[in-house]
Amino acid sequence: MDLLPADLRECLRGIPSIGVITGAGVSVESGIRSYRGQGGIYDDPEEGERNAEALSGPILRSDPDRTWRVVAEMARASAGAKPNAGHEALVRLEQGVERFVLLTQNVDGLHAAAGSKNIIDIHGDIRTTRCMSCDALARLTPEMLRELEAAPRCAHCGGVLRPDIILFGEYLPPEKYARIQAEMVEDPPDLVLAAGTTALFPYICHPVIAAAETDHVTVEVNPEPTVLSDVVTWSLRGTAGQLLPAIADAILGVS
Ligand SMILES: [Zn+2]
Repeated sequence: MDLLPADLRECLRGIPSIGVITGAGVSVESGIRSYRGQGGIYDDPEEGERNAEALSGPILRSDPDRTWRVVAEMARASAGAKPNAGHEALVRLEQGVERFVLLTQNVDGLHAAAGSKNIIDIHGDIRTTRCMSCDALARLTPEMLRELEAAPRCAHCGGVLRPDIILFGEYLPPEKYARIQAEMVEDPPDLVLAAGTTALFPYICHPVIAAAETDHVTVEVNPEPTVLSDVVTWSLRGTAGQLLPAIADAILGVS
């Protein structure tokens, strides 16, 4: 069965520049569950809320061990996750078109693991740490991350390390935000595609809205309708692992 409408396939074929926006839905098929909400790793919603609180700027500063215990728990919940067909389709697209940018809200590093290059990981990467004293960046292995019971320390200065992710109540990194504006909003790609995201954050919706307002092609892939469903040219119901390979085939002319 053809997963895409014929007019969409026609429109996508040979499109030269693409911007993709991904969210948690793209990682679900890799076995990564969100840390709260429906289907989250906590059965008890109150526990989920307490852990969301631990992932906030104020708790990081007052009790970094508490933040790190939750980060380690998230790492254990996604242990062994591998990129899926959706991640792999985006790698093929990047290799096959003239211009490609991938804006992701996911902190699991799976797009990079699959081989995507031009990534704006706006919320950071859970495997990277930043020293709160000297600003040095370092990587944690998955094993180190899973086994942490307290905040790790900087190898250079002994300062407390933080996960290099945006916590609740923190600002977006200005240089990544500037890249969204430059690569997706001011000069939108011919196609802007949102996959596996409910797109609640303004900086996630905005590139799609900017592209729609300037008559660029916009497509959404999500199992449920979202705030973007009435904005985009095509809103497709399904998972990223099902639909992104079909979209990549249509663009690249693979029959
Ligand atoms: Zn340091």
